[in-house]
Amino acid sequence: MSSIDPIQKSLNRLAEQAEPSTKGQKATPQTAQPIEVGTPLQFLPGIGLQRVELFHKLGVRRATDLLFLFPRSYQDIAPYQSITELEPGLRASVIGQVVDMDQRVSFEGRSSVGILLAIEGGGYVRCVWYNQPFRRQQFTHGMRVIATGMAKSTGISFEMRHPETTILAVDQPLPEAKPIPIYPLTEGLQQRHVATAVAAVLENLIGSIDEALPESIRLSANPYSVPRTKPATHLGSSGVSESAKDQKQPAPLLGIAQALRSIHQPNTIEEANEARHRFIFQELFVYQLALAMRRHRLQHDKPAPKIVSSPMIHARILKRFGFELTRDQLKAIDDVRVDMGQDVPMNRLIQGDVGSGKTVIAQYAMLNAVASKHQAALMAPTELLARQHFSRLQKQLSGSQVMIELLVGSITQRERTELLQRIAIGTVDLVVGTQALLSERVQFESLGLVVIDEQHKFGVQQRANLRESRLVPHYLVLSATPIPRTIAMTIFGDLDVSVLRDKPPGRAIVHTYLGSTAQQAKWWEFVVKQVQSGRQAYVVSPRVESDPEAEIVGAEEVYRQLSEGPLAGLRIELLHGRMDGNEKQMKLDSFTKGQTQVLVATTVVEVGIDVPNATVMTILDADRMGLAQLHQLRGRISRGSFPGYVCVFAKPGVAPEENARLSVLASTDDGFRLAEQDLQMRGPGDLLGTKQIGLPPLRIADLVRDSEILSRAREIAQSIVEQDPNLELAEHAKLKRQVTLRHGAVVTLGDVG
Ligand code: ADP
Ligand code: MG
Repeated sequence: MSSIDPIQKSLNRLAEQAEPSTKGQKATPQTAQPIEVGTPLQFLPGIGLQRVELFHKLGVRRATDLLFLFPRSYQDIAPYQSITELEPGLRASVIGQVVDMDQRVSFEGRSSVGILLAIEGGGYVRCVWYNQPFRRQQFTHGMRVIATGMAKSTGISFEMRHPETTILAVDQPLPEAKPIPIYPLTEGLQQRHVATAVAAVLENLIGSIDEALPESIRLSANPYSVPRTKPATHLGSSGVSESAKDQKQPAPLLGIAQALRSIHQPNTIEEANEARHRFIFQELFVYQLALAMRRHRLQHDKPAPKIVSSPMIHARILKRFGFELTRDQLKAIDDVRVDMGQDVPMNRLIQGDVGSGKTVIAQYAMLNAVASKHQAALMAPTELLARQHFSRLQKQLSGSQVMIELLVGSITQRERTELLQRIAIGTVDLVVGTQALLSERVQFESLGLVVIDEQHKFGVQQRANLRESRLVPHYLVLSATPIPRTIAMTIFGDLDVSVLRDKPPGRAIVHTYLGSTAQQAKWWEFVVKQVQSGRQAYVVSPRVESDPEAEIVGAEEVYRQLSEGPLAGLRIELLHGRMDGNEKQMKLDSFTKGQTQVLVATTVVEVGIDVPNATVMTILDADRMGLAQLHQLRGRISRGSFPGYVCVFAKPGVAPEENARLSVLASTDDGFRLAEQDLQMRGPGDLLGTKQIGLPPLRIADLVRDSEILSRAREIAQSIVEQDPNLELAEHAKLKRQVTLRHGAVVTLGDVG
């Protein structure tokens, strides 16, 4: 039942959020059984003790929780089905006349009531209820009845067990068929159980749920009302935003009472969509408020040093790069320059594809800090990457006065103590290290800038420990991978963003091939040829050790087989994450210098490694990797002027072109497009190949489908926080409660974990 977990979590949160007001609450829950906010579930009609457990599994603990157990979708039954349209196992509504009735008691004492409906237009459906003898009294011969339920074929006709029924008066016109809500379920619980329970609480509680969204916000949130005139359609992937665009008539989002009613018992799909729109907006809006508040605090909590780069300093830093910067790089540098020149701390994200040259921006910012006598720290996710940054900076700064040091796990305790002292008295200008080390309590004399490289998540933890002095540093975050706009707005919503879209000139293209097992021998021949012509090659295998059961050949085994087989005679080395820091460094150095021709590695090479002469990459068991990860890997061989070649192989028996992800990988080299497609294919939860990317659990909103609502929510949240940074106005009190209950950890600076 793992699919239940996210729902349960968000519901638990909703229980707190549903903020009952005190009106309508009486102190006598037992006697007349008035249904109240906190009424235990078993006292609700149609629930009973044994079903309480099942509702608990869905996160429904109190009566109010039911109101916020939103339907996943709706079944739009329109109009009524004829007998030929019935399909076994599908819900349907039929209209017929009662032509026969029966009541039986089985040997064990089980009773059943049956009515036979002659369906208008021909055919028969038998409705049957077990252990509900009172049903017998509800029907008489000749009645017109609508029955809605799951049709089961009995061979000659259809049967519905426990259908919902409506009895029509003589000559009563047919009621319009209403959409049927489809709720999230758990084993043992059926749609009608949930619908009945919801119906039982809806009218009683609807008045006691407070409105968190002031009218003014609801009005600006919904610039166009949803047309009510369009014919009913199924709630499609773009149900809300598409129809919302059609008609330009300002109207506020539905108020809470109407929205609750319409989401559970809509008369039309449009009405359901309108209600969903409100809750989708609310969910995204509350999170965007949290982000906006956090951002506001980051900016106003403590000042940062003003670091002004004069035209001379600017020109001198640029000269050190030794190449022309791309337009996007120059633009990003401008953004950084403006940010750092103010005493409001910079909080900027550099979003760019692999190889777009993000490091340049970081280097600029660091040298800019140093030029005005401040220290700068660069945090990398791995020691390998920290060392690479360190040596690149060293090379770039040779002959300058800048003192740069490396702080990683593999230096001795003595070196470390000494280094920390020099950082504290300010004789070290630039410190490069791993995130783990630098986020410990390193004392700086005057820290002006922190750069976080290859960041998947926003750096809540890292920020925390550095915020002690009178001034706080500026922050620059380099993204690890291109992220679709909507996701970026959500994960990095508290940061300003500069995007590097164009790649440095002179980059040769990378060819991506999908290889079958049968083609492997030929591919190795190609690898040998490339290496013999002077290039270098990576072979990537996701695991270190083999796992025969899962048909995985680990990197160690791949290394052995290749050096004895197809790549025999080449200088080939193995690199994986379990080696110690020095060994890893030696292997990488040897590859960087060109001594090693073929590097067999696990995905440790995924991030940041920069060896322009390496142009061939083989990825084994590629079907086990995420799209973003594959694209990162491919990024390793598009760093120079030689064309790159990557061939991906899936595990034996899987044709790579049958794997949607691999096909997408082969179809485009644009990381942003790829990320959008990945998002479409897999949904935001799985994106980036990691579970922990910092997305809030969303209960009704969908970052792909609801991107327009998200943008709107973000704009409004920002303007509200501008006027009322801590949501102190009376009209924002209820909103503030929701923000704190749901996203308190986001708002409070850095004290997470
Ligand atoms: P990433 O964005 O993946 O971190 P890097 O910053 O490592 O990319 O840059 C990739 C490579 O491109 C490096 O070798 C870097 O020196 C080079 N590079 C960056 N910008 C330019 C440019 N404008 N012109 C030429 N080469 C560049
Ligand atoms: Mg990089």
